[in-house]
Amino acid sequence: MNLKRRELLKKLAAGVTLTVAVPSIIYSCKDESPGNAFAFEGKVLIVGAGISGIYTGYLLQQIGVDFKIIEASDKFGGRLQTESKFDDFPMELGGDEIIGINSSFYDFLLSKSVKLAEVPTSESFIIDGIPQFANNLLEDNEFQAAATFIEGLKDFSGIDQSIDARVTQAGISTRVMHVIDGKIGNHYGTTNDKLGSLGVAGAINTSETGSEVFRIVGSDYTNFIKIIFSSVIKKIEFDAPVSSINYSGEMVEITDIGGNVFTGDMVVVTVPVSILKDGDITFTPSLSAEKQAALSTIGMDPGMKVFLRFTKNFWGETTSSVFAAGSAPEYISSGLNRGDRNRVLTALINGEKALTLGEMEDNAIISLLIRELDEIYGGAVASVNFIEGMVKNWTKEPYIRGAYSFPNVGSLSGNRSIIAQPASNKLFFAGEATNVNGNFGTIHGAVETAERVVNEIVAVLEPA
Ligand SMILES: Cc1cc2nc3c(=O)[nH]c(=O)nc-3n(C[C@H](O)[C@H](O)[C@H](O)COP(=O)(O)OP(=O)(O)OC[C@H]3O[C@@H](n4cnc5c(N)ncnc54)[C@H](O)[C@@H]3O)c2cc1C
Repeated sequence: MNLKRRELLKKLAAGVTLTVAVPSIIYSCKDESPGNAFAFEGKVLIVGAGISGIYTGYLLQQIGVDFKIIEASDKFGGRLQTESKFDDFPMELGGDEIIGINSSFYDFLLSKSVKLAEVPTSESFIIDGIPQFANNLLEDNEFQAAATFIEGLKDFSGIDQSIDARVTQAGISTRVMHVIDGKIGNHYGTTNDKLGSLGVAGAINTSETGSEVFRIVGSDYTNFIKIIFSSVIKKIEFDAPVSSINYSGEMVEITDIGGNVFTGDMVVVTVPVSILKDGDITFTPSLSAEKQAALSTIGMDPGMKVFLRFTKNFWGETTSSVFAAGSAPEYISSGLNRGDRNRVLTALINGEKALTLGEMEDNAIISLLIRELDEIYGGAVASVNFIEGMVKNWTKEPYIRGAYSFPNVGSLSGNRSIIAQPASNKLFFAGEATNVNGNFGTIHGAVETAERVVNEIVAVLEPA
Protein backbone atom coordinates (compact mmCIF):
# COMPACT_ATOMS: atom_id res chain seq x y z
CA MET A 1 0.00 0.00 0.00
CA ASN A 2 1.57 3.30 -0.97
CA LEU A 3 1.74 6.29 1.32
CA LYS A 4 -0.97 8.25 -0.43
CA ARG A 5 -3.34 5.33 -0.07
CA ARG A 6 -2.50 4.94 3.62
CA GLU A 7 -3.19 8.62 4.21
CA LEU A 8 -6.45 8.34 2.35
CA LEU A 9 -7.58 5.39 4.41
CA LYS A 10 -6.64 7.09 7.64
CA LYS A 11 -8.61 10.12 6.57
CA LEU A 12 -11.54 7.99 5.53
CA ALA A 13 -11.56 6.23 8.84
CA ALA A 14 -11.26 9.52 10.68
CA GLY A 15 -14.30 10.85 8.89
CA VAL A 16 -12.42 13.56 7.06
CA THR A 17 -14.26 14.86 4.05
CA LEU A 18 -12.78 12.92 1.18
CA THR A 19 -13.40 15.39 -1.55
CA VAL A 20 -11.35 18.00 0.20
CA ALA A 21 -8.74 15.71 1.64
CA VAL A 22 -7.06 13.86 -1.19
CA PRO A 23 -7.88 15.52 -4.46
CA SER A 24 -5.78 13.79 -7.11
CA ILE A 25 -6.69 10.24 -6.28
CA ILE A 26 -10.26 10.91 -5.32
CA TYR A 27 -11.14 13.15 -8.21
CA SER A 28 -9.72 10.94 -10.89
CA CYS A 29 -12.52 9.30 -12.75
CA LYS A 30 -10.81 6.45 -14.46
CA ASP A 31 -12.67 3.29 -15.25
CA GLU A 32 -10.20 1.11 -13.46
CA SER A 33 -10.08 1.36 -9.67
CA PRO A 34 -6.78 2.39 -8.08
CA GLY A 35 -6.28 -1.16 -6.75
CA ASN A 36 -7.56 -2.89 -3.67
CA ALA A 37 -6.39 -1.17 -0.51
CA PHE A 38 -7.57 -4.01 1.72
CA ALA A 39 -7.15 -7.72 2.07
CA PHE A 40 -10.86 -7.70 1.24
CA GLU A 41 -11.56 -9.40 -2.09
CA GLY A 42 -15.34 -9.29 -1.80
CA LYS A 43 -18.10 -7.09 -3.10
CA VAL A 44 -20.37 -4.43 -1.65
CA LEU A 45 -23.91 -4.31 -3.02
CA ILE A 46 -25.60 -0.91 -3.10
CA VAL A 47 -29.37 -0.69 -3.39
CA GLY A 48 -30.46 2.49 -5.21
CA ALA A 49 -28.70 4.64 -7.82
CA GLY A 50 -29.62 8.07 -6.48
CA ILE A 51 -26.80 10.47 -5.63
CA SER A 52 -26.09 8.70 -2.30
CA GLY A 53 -25.79 5.28 -3.95
CA ILE A 54 -23.69 6.60 -6.82
CA TYR A 55 -21.40 8.56 -4.50
CA THR A 56 -20.99 5.50 -2.26
CA GLY A 57 -19.90 3.53 -5.32
CA TYR A 58 -17.58 6.32 -6.36
CA LEU A 59 -15.83 6.40 -2.98
CA LEU A 60 -15.56 2.61 -2.82
CA GLN A 61 -14.02 2.64 -6.27
CA GLN A 62 -11.39 5.09 -5.07
CA ILE A 63 -10.25 2.69 -2.38
CA GLY A 64 -10.34 -0.37 -4.59
CA VAL A 65 -13.41 -2.03 -3.12
CA ASP A 66 -15.58 -3.80 -5.67
CA PHE A 67 -19.29 -2.96 -5.74
CA LYS A 68 -22.47 -3.30 -7.71
CA ILE A 69 -25.46 -0.96 -7.65
CA ILE A 70 -28.93 -2.43 -7.95
CA GLU A 71 -31.51 0.10 -9.12
CA ALA A 72 -35.25 -0.42 -9.38
CA SER A 73 -35.90 2.00 -12.24
CA ASP A 74 -34.33 2.35 -15.67
CA LYS A 75 -32.57 5.62 -14.68
CA PHE A 76 -29.69 6.76 -12.54
CA GLY A 77 -29.96 9.84 -10.33
CA GLY A 78 -33.09 9.03 -8.29
CA ARG A 79 -34.52 12.38 -7.26
CA LEU A 80 -32.01 14.19 -9.48
CA GLN A 81 -33.56 14.22 -12.95
CA THR A 82 -33.35 16.84 -15.67
CA GLU A 83 -35.54 17.90 -18.59
CA SER A 84 -33.37 19.85 -20.98
CA LYS A 85 -35.76 20.88 -23.75
CA PHE A 86 -38.24 23.07 -21.89
CA ASP A 87 -36.46 26.43 -22.09
CA ASP A 88 -32.99 27.93 -22.57
CA PHE A 89 -31.68 26.23 -19.41
CA PRO A 90 -32.24 22.66 -18.16
CA MET A 91 -35.13 22.14 -15.73
CA GLU A 92 -34.20 20.18 -12.63
CA LEU A 93 -37.29 18.10 -11.98
CA GLY A 94 -36.26 17.22 -8.42
CA GLY A 95 -33.29 18.48 -6.42
CA ASP A 96 -31.94 21.72 -7.83
CA GLU A 97 -30.46 24.25 -5.42
CA ILE A 98 -27.13 23.73 -3.72
CA ILE A 99 -27.46 25.04 -0.22
CA GLY A 100 -24.51 26.48 1.68
CA ILE A 101 -20.79 26.52 0.98
CA ASN A 102 -19.64 24.33 3.87
CA SER A 103 -20.32 20.97 2.33
CA SER A 104 -18.19 18.38 0.62
CA PHE A 105 -20.68 18.37 -2.26
CA TYR A 106 -20.13 22.08 -2.87
CA ASP A 107 -16.35 21.51 -2.78
CA PHE A 108 -16.72 18.55 -5.08
CA LEU A 109 -18.67 20.58 -7.65
CA LEU A 110 -16.03 23.32 -7.58
CA SER A 111 -13.23 20.78 -7.91
CA LYS A 112 -14.91 19.48 -11.04
CA SER A 113 -15.14 23.03 -12.43
CA VAL A 114 -18.93 22.92 -12.38
CA LYS A 115 -20.14 26.49 -12.91
CA LEU A 116 -22.42 27.67 -10.13
CA ALA A 117 -24.54 30.81 -9.99
CA GLU A 118 -25.48 32.22 -6.61
CA VAL A 119 -29.18 32.97 -6.29
CA PRO A 120 -29.81 36.24 -4.44
CA THR A 121 -32.58 36.11 -1.85
CA SER A 122 -35.15 38.52 -3.18
CA GLU A 123 -38.44 37.06 -2.07
CA SER A 124 -41.86 38.37 -2.94
CA PHE A 125 -44.82 37.74 -0.61
CA ILE A 126 -48.44 37.95 -1.68
CA ILE A 127 -50.03 39.89 1.18
CA ASP A 128 -53.66 41.02 0.84
CA GLY A 129 -53.44 39.83 -2.76
CA ILE A 130 -50.52 42.15 -3.59
CA PRO A 131 -46.95 41.01 -4.37
CA GLN A 132 -44.57 42.78 -1.96
CA PHE A 133 -40.91 42.48 -0.98
CA ALA A 134 -39.99 42.09 2.69
CA ASN A 135 -38.55 45.59 2.87
CA ASN A 136 -41.96 46.99 1.90
CA LEU A 137 -43.54 45.12 4.78
CA LEU A 138 -41.50 46.61 7.64
CA GLU A 139 -44.57 48.41 8.99
CA ASP A 140 -46.83 45.36 8.66
CA ASN A 141 -46.91 44.00 12.21
CA GLU A 142 -48.54 40.74 11.25
CA PHE A 143 -45.95 40.03 8.57
CA GLN A 144 -43.22 40.98 11.04
CA ALA A 145 -44.67 38.54 13.59
CA ALA A 146 -44.49 35.78 10.97
CA ALA A 147 -40.89 36.75 10.13
CA THR A 148 -39.97 36.73 13.85
CA PHE A 149 -41.59 33.30 14.22
CA ILE A 150 -39.45 31.94 11.37
CA GLU A 151 -36.32 33.54 12.86
CA GLY A 152 -37.10 31.88 16.17
CA LEU A 153 -37.50 28.32 14.81
CA LYS A 154 -34.05 27.37 16.07
CA ASP A 155 -35.00 28.27 19.65
CA PHE A 156 -37.90 25.83 20.02
CA SER A 157 -37.50 23.53 23.00
CA GLY A 158 -39.63 21.59 25.47
CA ILE A 159 -42.22 19.06 24.39
CA ASP A 160 -42.34 18.50 20.65
CA GLN A 161 -45.30 20.10 18.92
CA SER A 162 -46.23 20.68 15.31
CA ILE A 163 -45.25 23.97 13.69
CA ASP A 164 -48.99 24.66 13.41
CA ALA A 165 -49.43 24.36 17.18
CA ARG A 166 -46.53 26.80 17.72
CA VAL A 167 -48.05 29.17 15.15
CA THR A 168 -51.33 29.16 17.07
CA GLN A 169 -49.53 29.81 20.37
CA ALA A 170 -47.64 32.69 18.77
CA GLY A 171 -50.95 34.21 17.67
CA ILE A 172 -49.89 34.51 14.02
CA SER A 173 -52.63 36.08 11.91
CA THR A 174 -54.29 33.92 9.22
CA ARG A 175 -53.57 36.80 6.86
CA VAL A 176 -49.85 35.87 6.77
CA MET A 177 -50.12 32.15 7.57
CA HIS A 178 -49.18 31.20 3.99
CA VAL A 179 -45.77 32.83 4.52
CA ILE A 180 -45.06 30.25 7.22
CA ASP A 181 -46.60 27.46 5.11
CA GLY A 182 -44.34 28.32 2.20
CA LYS A 183 -41.14 29.00 4.08
CA ILE A 184 -41.40 26.16 6.59
CA GLY A 185 -43.92 23.34 6.00
CA ASN A 186 -43.65 23.29 2.22
CA HIS A 187 -39.90 23.92 2.31
CA TYR A 188 -39.44 20.90 4.57
CA GLY A 189 -41.54 18.75 2.22
CA THR A 190 -44.83 18.68 4.11
CA THR A 191 -47.40 20.85 5.87
CA ASN A 192 -47.08 22.65 9.18
CA ASP A 193 -49.60 20.44 10.97
CA LYS A 194 -47.32 17.40 10.52
CA LEU A 195 -43.90 19.00 10.85
CA GLY A 196 -42.23 18.57 14.25
CA SER A 197 -40.89 21.85 15.63
CA LEU A 198 -38.07 20.19 17.60
CA GLY A 199 -36.94 18.26 14.54
CA VAL A 200 -36.74 21.54 12.61
CA ALA A 201 -34.94 23.32 15.46
CA GLY A 202 -32.50 20.41 15.77
CA ALA A 203 -31.73 20.49 12.04
CA ILE A 204 -31.13 24.25 12.02
CA ASN A 205 -28.86 24.05 15.04
CA THR A 206 -26.93 21.01 13.81
CA SER A 207 -26.35 21.93 10.20
CA GLU A 208 -23.14 23.84 9.53
CA THR A 209 -23.60 24.08 5.78
CA GLY A 210 -24.70 27.70 5.56
CA SER A 211 -27.61 29.30 3.78
CA GLU A 212 -26.21 30.58 0.48
CA VAL A 213 -28.09 29.19 -2.50
CA PHE A 214 -26.49 28.16 -5.81
CA ARG A 215 -27.62 26.55 -9.02
CA ILE A 216 -25.64 24.77 -11.70
CA VAL A 217 -25.33 26.84 -14.87
CA GLY A 218 -24.37 25.61 -18.31
CA SER A 219 -24.93 22.00 -17.27
CA ASP A 220 -27.33 19.98 -15.12
CA TYR A 221 -27.39 17.08 -12.69
CA THR A 222 -28.09 14.37 -15.26
CA ASN A 223 -25.18 15.50 -17.40
CA PHE A 224 -22.93 16.00 -14.39
CA ILE A 225 -23.62 12.48 -13.05
CA LYS A 226 -23.20 10.96 -16.51
CA ILE A 227 -19.77 12.50 -16.98
CA ILE A 228 -18.27 12.52 -13.50
CA PHE A 229 -19.54 9.12 -12.42
CA SER A 230 -19.35 7.33 -15.78
CA SER A 231 -17.36 4.42 -14.38
CA VAL A 232 -19.84 4.01 -11.51
CA ILE A 233 -22.82 4.04 -13.86
CA LYS A 234 -21.33 1.06 -15.68
CA LYS A 235 -21.77 -0.92 -12.47
CA ILE A 236 -25.51 -0.30 -12.15
CA GLU A 237 -27.96 -3.12 -12.70
CA PHE A 238 -31.12 -1.28 -13.85
CA ASP A 239 -34.77 -2.42 -13.70
CA ALA A 240 -34.12 -4.54 -10.63
CA PRO A 241 -36.46 -3.52 -7.78
CA VAL A 242 -35.08 -5.23 -4.70
CA SER A 243 -37.71 -7.15 -2.75
CA SER A 244 -35.63 -8.98 -0.17
CA ILE A 245 -32.29 -8.73 1.58
CA ASN A 246 -31.06 -11.73 3.51
CA TYR A 247 -28.04 -10.91 5.65
CA SER A 248 -28.34 -13.84 8.04
CA GLY A 249 -25.56 -15.91 6.47
CA GLU A 250 -21.94 -15.31 5.67
CA MET A 251 -22.89 -13.68 2.39
CA VAL A 252 -25.64 -11.16 1.78
CA GLU A 253 -28.27 -12.33 -0.66
CA ILE A 254 -30.45 -9.82 -2.46
CA THR A 255 -33.43 -10.79 -4.58
CA ASP A 256 -35.30 -8.49 -6.95
CA ILE A 257 -38.96 -8.78 -7.89
CA GLY A 258 -38.04 -10.76 -11.01
CA GLY A 259 -36.35 -13.41 -8.86
CA ASN A 260 -32.80 -12.42 -9.82
CA VAL A 261 -30.34 -13.01 -7.00
CA PHE A 262 -27.28 -10.83 -6.25
CA THR A 263 -24.67 -11.94 -3.76
CA GLY A 264 -22.17 -9.81 -1.91
CA ASP A 265 -20.34 -9.44 1.38
CA MET A 266 -22.17 -6.32 2.51
CA VAL A 267 -25.10 -4.21 1.38
CA VAL A 268 -25.73 -0.47 1.55
CA VAL A 269 -29.42 0.40 1.35
CA THR A 270 -30.01 3.92 -0.02
CA VAL A 271 -33.70 3.78 -1.01
CA PRO A 272 -36.03 6.64 0.00
CA VAL A 273 -37.53 6.33 3.48
CA SER A 274 -40.98 5.93 1.86
CA ILE A 275 -39.83 2.63 0.33
CA LEU A 276 -38.49 1.37 3.66
CA LYS A 277 -41.65 2.40 5.50
CA ASP A 278 -43.92 0.80 2.90
CA GLY A 279 -42.12 -2.51 3.43
CA ASP A 280 -41.10 -3.03 -0.21
CA ILE A 281 -37.98 -4.78 1.02
CA THR A 282 -38.14 -7.74 3.39
CA PHE A 283 -35.10 -8.04 5.61
CA THR A 284 -33.88 -11.33 7.09
CA PRO A 285 -33.31 -10.97 10.01
CA SER A 286 -35.99 -8.25 10.33
CA LEU A 287 -34.97 -4.70 11.07
CA SER A 288 -34.79 -4.13 14.81
CA ALA A 289 -37.90 -2.87 16.59
CA GLU A 290 -35.89 0.24 17.51
CA LYS A 291 -35.11 0.95 13.85
CA GLN A 292 -38.72 0.40 12.84
CA ALA A 293 -39.92 2.75 15.58
CA ALA A 294 -37.41 5.37 14.42
CA LEU A 295 -38.60 4.99 10.83
CA SER A 296 -42.17 5.67 11.89
CA THR A 297 -41.20 9.11 13.19
CA ILE A 298 -39.73 10.22 9.86
CA GLY A 299 -42.26 11.33 7.26
CA MET A 300 -42.15 11.62 3.48
CA ASP A 301 -45.14 13.39 1.95
CA PRO A 302 -46.37 13.86 -1.60
CA GLY A 303 -44.43 16.39 -3.63
CA MET A 304 -44.41 17.88 -7.11
CA LYS A 305 -42.93 20.62 -9.24
CA VAL A 306 -44.96 22.45 -11.90
CA PHE A 307 -42.94 24.32 -14.53
CA LEU A 308 -44.64 27.27 -16.23
CA ARG A 309 -43.01 28.97 -19.21
CA PHE A 310 -44.07 32.46 -20.25
CA THR A 311 -43.24 34.89 -23.05
CA LYS A 312 -42.15 37.41 -20.46
CA ASN A 313 -41.22 37.70 -16.81
CA PHE A 314 -44.04 39.50 -14.95
CA TRP A 315 -43.06 38.55 -11.37
CA GLY A 316 -39.87 40.62 -11.33
CA GLU A 317 -36.56 40.08 -13.07
CA THR A 318 -34.73 39.98 -9.73
CA THR A 319 -37.38 38.11 -7.72
CA SER A 320 -36.06 34.76 -6.50
CA SER A 321 -39.31 33.28 -5.16
CA VAL A 322 -42.96 34.21 -4.75
CA PHE A 323 -44.82 32.96 -1.65
CA ALA A 324 -48.58 32.76 -2.26
CA ALA A 325 -51.68 31.56 -0.43
CA GLY A 326 -53.20 29.47 -3.22
CA SER A 327 -52.53 25.98 -4.51
CA ALA A 328 -48.77 26.53 -4.77
CA PRO A 329 -47.07 27.76 -1.58
CA GLU A 330 -43.91 28.80 -3.46
CA TYR A 331 -43.12 29.75 -7.04
CA ILE A 332 -39.39 29.69 -7.72
CA SER A 333 -37.97 31.88 -10.45
CA SER A 334 -35.81 29.07 -11.81
CA GLY A 335 -34.19 31.08 -14.58
CA LEU A 336 -32.83 33.81 -12.32
CA ASN A 337 -29.06 34.11 -12.96
CA ARG A 338 -29.24 30.99 -15.06
CA GLY A 339 -30.92 31.32 -18.45
CA ASP A 340 -30.78 34.37 -20.69
CA ARG A 341 -34.53 34.83 -20.59
CA ASN A 342 -35.58 34.23 -16.97
CA ARG A 343 -39.17 33.51 -17.82
CA VAL A 344 -39.94 30.21 -16.04
CA LEU A 345 -41.80 29.95 -12.76
CA THR A 346 -41.48 26.61 -10.97
CA ALA A 347 -44.16 25.85 -8.40
CA LEU A 348 -42.84 23.72 -5.52
CA ILE A 349 -45.82 21.98 -3.94
CA ASN A 350 -45.48 19.48 -1.10
CA GLY A 351 -47.69 17.85 1.51
CA GLU A 352 -51.50 18.12 1.48
CA LYS A 353 -51.61 20.48 -1.48
CA ALA A 354 -49.53 18.08 -3.58
CA LEU A 355 -51.86 15.28 -2.56
CA THR A 356 -54.93 17.24 -3.66
CA LEU A 357 -53.41 18.45 -6.94
CA GLY A 358 -52.06 14.97 -7.62
CA GLU A 359 -55.62 13.77 -8.13
CA MET A 360 -56.05 16.15 -11.06
CA GLU A 361 -54.88 15.83 -14.67
CA ASP A 362 -51.63 17.67 -15.43
CA ASN A 363 -53.41 20.16 -17.70
CA ALA A 364 -55.94 20.94 -14.98
CA ILE A 365 -53.15 21.58 -12.46
CA ILE A 366 -51.41 23.93 -14.89
CA SER A 367 -54.66 25.80 -15.71
CA LEU A 368 -55.43 26.22 -12.02
CA LEU A 369 -52.01 27.74 -11.28
CA ILE A 370 -52.27 30.06 -14.30
CA ARG A 371 -55.69 31.28 -13.05
CA GLU A 372 -54.24 31.90 -9.60
CA LEU A 373 -51.30 33.82 -11.05
CA ASP A 374 -53.76 35.92 -13.11
CA GLU A 375 -55.54 36.82 -9.88
CA ILE A 376 -52.29 37.79 -8.16
CA TYR A 377 -50.73 39.80 -10.97
CA GLY A 378 -53.97 41.08 -12.58
CA GLY A 379 -54.91 41.80 -16.19
CA ALA A 380 -54.75 38.11 -17.16
CA VAL A 381 -50.99 38.61 -17.47
CA ALA A 382 -50.22 34.98 -16.73
CA SER A 383 -52.71 33.45 -19.17
CA VAL A 384 -51.90 35.94 -21.92
CA ASN A 385 -48.17 35.24 -21.66
CA PHE A 386 -48.36 31.53 -20.91
CA ILE A 387 -46.57 29.26 -23.42
CA GLU A 388 -46.49 25.80 -21.89
CA GLY A 389 -46.41 23.87 -18.63
CA MET A 390 -44.96 20.61 -17.33
CA VAL A 391 -45.76 18.67 -14.17
CA LYS A 392 -43.34 16.39 -12.33
CA ASN A 393 -45.25 14.53 -9.66
CA TRP A 394 -42.74 12.66 -7.50
CA THR A 395 -45.50 10.86 -5.64
CA LYS A 396 -46.27 8.93 -8.82
CA GLU A 397 -42.68 7.75 -9.23
CA PRO A 398 -43.03 4.09 -8.20
CA TYR A 399 -39.65 3.91 -6.46
CA ILE A 400 -39.66 7.37 -4.85
CA ARG A 401 -43.29 8.06 -3.72
CA GLY A 402 -42.95 11.55 -2.37
CA ALA A 403 -40.66 14.54 -2.00
CA TYR A 404 -38.09 14.14 0.78
CA SER A 405 -37.95 13.14 4.42
CA PHE A 406 -39.08 15.41 7.23
CA PRO A 407 -39.34 15.09 11.02
CA ASN A 408 -42.81 14.18 12.25
CA VAL A 409 -43.91 15.48 15.63
CA GLY A 410 -41.92 13.43 18.16
CA SER A 411 -39.03 12.83 15.79
CA LEU A 412 -35.69 13.85 17.26
CA SER A 413 -32.36 13.89 15.47
CA GLY A 414 -31.27 10.71 17.31
CA ASN A 415 -33.87 8.79 15.32
CA ARG A 416 -31.94 9.26 12.12
CA SER A 417 -28.83 7.82 13.79
CA ILE A 418 -30.84 4.75 14.71
CA ILE A 419 -32.01 4.33 11.11
CA ALA A 420 -28.44 4.80 9.90
CA GLN A 421 -26.97 2.22 12.31
CA PRO A 422 -25.38 -0.79 10.57
CA ALA A 423 -26.47 -4.32 11.48
CA SER A 424 -24.20 -7.36 11.79
CA ASN A 425 -21.38 -5.51 9.96
CA LYS A 426 -23.21 -6.44 6.77
CA LEU A 427 -26.25 -4.22 6.42
CA PHE A 428 -25.58 -0.48 6.07
CA PHE A 429 -27.83 2.50 5.41
CA ALA A 430 -27.32 5.73 3.48
CA GLY A 431 -29.60 8.18 1.67
CA GLU A 432 -30.86 11.63 2.61
CA ALA A 433 -33.17 10.38 5.37
CA THR A 434 -30.19 8.93 7.25
CA ASN A 435 -28.38 12.25 7.47
CA VAL A 436 -27.56 13.10 11.07
CA ASN A 437 -25.96 16.49 10.38
CA GLY A 438 -29.26 18.34 10.03
CA ASN A 439 -28.98 18.11 6.24
CA PHE A 440 -31.72 15.55 5.51
CA GLY A 441 -33.90 16.26 2.48
CA THR A 442 -30.99 17.72 0.50
CA ILE A 443 -28.47 16.72 -2.13
CA HIS A 444 -25.41 17.58 -0.04
CA GLY A 445 -27.01 15.72 2.87
CA ALA A 446 -27.37 12.59 0.72
CA VAL A 447 -23.70 12.89 -0.29
CA GLU A 448 -22.67 13.17 3.38
CA THR A 449 -24.42 9.87 4.10
CA ALA A 450 -22.35 8.21 1.36
CA GLU A 451 -19.19 9.46 3.07
CA ARG A 452 -20.40 8.21 6.44
CA VAL A 453 -21.30 4.76 5.14
CA VAL A 454 -17.95 4.33 3.39
CA ASN A 455 -16.24 5.21 6.66
CA GLU A 456 -18.37 2.55 8.38
CA ILE A 457 -17.37 -0.02 5.77
CA VAL A 458 -13.70 0.93 6.06
CA ALA A 459 -13.92 0.45 9.83
CA VAL A 460 -15.24 -3.08 9.27
CA LEU A 461 -12.53 -3.91 6.73
CA GLU A 462 -9.68 -2.77 8.95
CA PRO A 463 -7.17 -3.97 9.89
CA ALA A 464 -6.04 -4.73 6.35
C1 LIG B 1 -39.32 18.24 -5.82
C2 LIG B 1 -37.99 18.14 -5.12
C3 LIG B 1 -37.22 19.28 -4.94
C4 LIG B 1 -35.99 19.20 -4.28
N1 LIG B 1 -35.21 20.32 -4.19
C5 LIG B 1 -33.99 20.23 -3.62
C6 LIG B 1 -33.09 21.33 -3.66
O1 LIG B 1 -33.38 22.37 -4.28
N2 LIG B 1 -31.88 21.22 -3.03
C7 LIG B 1 -31.51 20.06 -2.40
O2 LIG B 1 -30.40 20.01 -1.84
N3 LIG B 1 -32.33 18.97 -2.39
C8 LIG B 1 -33.54 19.03 -2.99
N4 LIG B 1 -34.34 17.93 -3.04
C9 LIG B 1 -33.92 16.71 -2.30
C10 LIG B 1 -32.84 15.89 -3.04
O3 LIG B 1 -33.19 15.75 -4.40
C11 LIG B 1 -32.75 14.52 -2.39
O4 LIG B 1 -32.52 14.68 -0.99
C12 LIG B 1 -31.62 13.64 -2.93
O5 LIG B 1 -31.57 13.67 -4.33
C13 LIG B 1 -31.85 12.21 -2.42
O6 LIG B 1 -30.83 11.35 -2.86
P1 LIG B 1 -30.81 9.84 -2.32
O7 LIG B 1 -29.73 9.15 -3.02
O8 LIG B 1 -30.83 9.85 -0.84
O9 LIG B 1 -32.24 9.23 -2.75
P2 LIG B 1 -32.86 9.00 -4.18
O10 LIG B 1 -32.41 10.02 -5.14
O11 LIG B 1 -34.33 8.87 -3.97
O12 LIG B 1 -32.27 7.59 -4.64
C14 LIG B 1 -32.78 6.38 -4.18
C15 LIG B 1 -32.83 5.38 -5.34
O13 LIG B 1 -33.33 4.14 -4.84
C16 LIG B 1 -34.09 3.53 -5.86
N5 LIG B 1 -34.96 2.51 -5.28
C17 LIG B 1 -36.12 2.66 -4.60
N6 LIG B 1 -36.62 1.47 -4.24
C18 LIG B 1 -35.76 0.54 -4.69
C19 LIG B 1 -35.73 -0.88 -4.62
N7 LIG B 1 -36.69 -1.58 -4.00
N8 LIG B 1 -34.70 -1.54 -5.22
C20 LIG B 1 -33.70 -0.85 -5.84
N9 LIG B 1 -33.69 0.50 -5.93
C21 LIG B 1 -34.69 1.19 -5.36
C22 LIG B 1 -34.83 4.71 -6.48
O14 LIG B 1 -35.33 4.40 -7.77
C23 LIG B 1 -33.75 5.79 -6.48
O15 LIG B 1 -33.04 5.79 -7.70
C24 LIG B 1 -35.54 17.96 -3.75
C25 LIG B 1 -36.31 16.81 -3.96
C26 LIG B 1 -37.51 16.89 -4.63
C27 LIG B 1 -38.31 15.64 -4.87
